[in-house]
Amino acid sequence: MRAALLEPTGRPLTIVSDIDIADPGPGEVLVKVHACGVCHSDLSNVNGTFPVPGPIVLGHEAAGVVEAVGAGVTSVKPNDRVIISPIATCGHCYTCLRGDFGVCEQAMAVTSGTFIDGSSPLSRSGNTVYRGLGVGGFGEYAVVREAAAVKVASDTPLEIACVIGCSIQTGVGAVIRTAKVTPGSTVLVMGLGGVGIAIVQGARLAGASRIIVSDPLSARRDAAQNFGATDAIDPTSEDVVGRVLEITGGGVDYAFEAAGKGALVDQAIWTTRPGGMIVMVGAAPITDAVTINPAVVFMASEKKLVGSFLGSSNSRRDIPLLLGLWRSGRLDFESMITKERPITEVNEAFEDMEAGLGLRTVLTFN
Ligand SMILES: [Zn+2]
Ligand SMILES: [Zn+2]
Repeated sequence: MRAALLEPTGRPLTIVSDIDIADPGPGEVLVKVHACGVCHSDLSNVNGTFPVPGPIVLGHEAAGVVEAVGAGVTSVKPNDRVIISPIATCGHCYTCLRGDFGVCEQAMAVTSGTFIDGSSPLSRSGNTVYRGLGVGGFGEYAVVREAAAVKVASDTPLEIACVIGCSIQTGVGAVIRTAKVTPGSTVLVMGLGGVGIAIVQGARLAGASRIIVSDPLSARRDAAQNFGATDAIDPTSEDVVGRVLEITGGGVDYAFEAAGKGALVDQAIWTTRPGGMIVMVGAAPITDAVTINPAVVFMASEKKLVGSFLGSSNSRRDIPLLLGLWRSGRLDFESMITKERPITEVNEAFEDMEAGLGLRTVLTFN
């Protein structure tokens, strides 16, 4: 099959047509990928900021059509349209039973680029090929666990709905599942890539009274206002903490870090009011660290610092729910997708991202 392949030697990605893909095993589904969004985490993998094994087919925000199913699969059948989730929440491990879906033991396996048993359905000339977050959406086909292939209605536009897989689940989920933002709350969003914009949308959905955004790029700050942002801060020329305290009269109830920078977590802590919550959503470089004064931040101020992986989503519950919110006009996916390119232009999509052009590129196989 065709795929955009990242070799261990690094960029550029190359379009190859000799990737072998295994038949779906028991509990697995073979999906013909129609579209896949390009996420900042893919760029971090390409740059080595977030190292992955190689060679690898990246891409984890994909949607497609079921081609074949393995033994025992009951929830989808050939020709069903599906959105693929990077986390195939198992539903029966310790953390799933506690409701902590983002850290399901299956989710913890995906960063290795393999199934939980260490195997990969992809190979090239007999050698293992890994898959970005266990999906590999920059390939023409993907084999995923049944729970990761979530059936959607047959009229779902896959080149639009694919963004649910990562950015929408991550951003909207961080607001409604991880933080459980309540109506009337004040919210800060730091970093306005696809995930940051999805957080803004989630905050609007949750009824936030004030949605303050911060991003160095003016085009992104302007775009955020179309998704519900009420105030914008330029961190290159303004004091973010001072401005947030001024706008809110003492700090926001919730601060979301969506730029993937450890230093912003520290800043976010000082933008929240006593009792406020700081949610770390971005994928920070593995070497970043944060120093916290526990007496001031935790004891005296009761601040809550929490992590969020894929928006703490349970994909089989949340993908249909998020799609329903889009159908009823309460989430906007179309305006997030600023460019559609064929898979052959994957490197150009990364260049756009590095240049800060647009919000989300969707790659399609035709
Ligand atoms: Zn992503
Ligand atoms: Zn689980």
